[in-house]
Amino acid sequence: MGDALGATTEFLTPREIRQYHKVHRDIVGGGWLHLAPGAVTDDTEMSLALGRSIIDRRRVDAVSIAEAFSAWMRSKPVDIGNTVRRGIVHYRSTGRPKIDQNEQSAGNGACMRCLPVALAYCRAPVEQLVSAVHVQSHVTHNAPLSDAGTDTVVKMVVAALQGGGRRSMRQIADALVSGFPAFRYDGRRVENPSGWIVDTLRAVFQALFSTSGFEEALVDVVNRGGDSDTTGAIAGMLAGALYGREAIPLRWSNALDTAVRQECEQQAISLVALANGGVQPVIEGTGISNHG
Ligand code: MN
Ligand code: MN
Repeated sequence: MGDALGATTEFLTPREIRQYHKVHRDIVGGGWLHLAPGAVTDDTEMSLALGRSIIDRRRVDAVSIAEAFSAWMRSKPVDIGNTVRRGIVHYRSTGRPKIDQNEQSAGNGACMRCLPVALAYCRAPVEQLVSAVHVQSHVTHNAPLSDAGTDTVVKMVVAALQGGGRRSMRQIADALVSGFPAFRYDGRRVENPSGWIVDTLRAVFQALFSTSGFEEALVDVVNRGGDSDTTGAIAGMLAGALYGREAIPLRWSNALDTAVRQECEQQAISLVALANGGVQPVIEGTGISNHG
């Protein structure tokens, strides 16, 4: 939802957004990718690829996830990040579903697609949850800041699903800031957030904690411009978990691409059923190559 909304304003500045839209608050497509109204981008498509793998395997399985991402790249997506492409190419050429740690992979690409892990492991012990997040992340992104930020988002979603409310979400965000002060979000307003995980999450946290509804939070974050489809996607996970599906404006649900909306709904049901029925333990990549 946030991806479809924010794709229109991706890479615009807040000033340009004001000029074209006053306040951007409708799913109308367009943007630099010239999207049809309701179309989504890599953020949603990779989430759905991840969700398919988890539902199929009844667990997070590194090789299955890497295969799902590789199949998605083969489908000629409308947009794909450089770090994501590198990670998938690495898997294709080595058979290893995990890249080596490197600071350059601290983009927001692992975080933008993490929701299916949060749903499937929402009742699992926190160590399982975190190891599941890392396995999906490390296919393409392996950096301490990316891990810390993505772990935090997943934990916040789970806390909200468990009824912890904004107070518990805020505690989790503040624990991130204690460990990694770069994520401080109490300063001046973040505009034009980049694709760096730190910038992205600072904008998302500001928007989430300064508003009191799903629509308000998403409108706030995408009107900051920059990587707005991704800030929209992440704010959508957090605000969706916090406010529930009734809070989603009907005009947004109706505008979203029908096939995408239906797959999102079906996956959410299947992933929560998996969580309730007992998700299987994570399978990490062995590093053994069968691709030569
Ligand atoms: Mn995108
Ligand atoms: Mn983006």
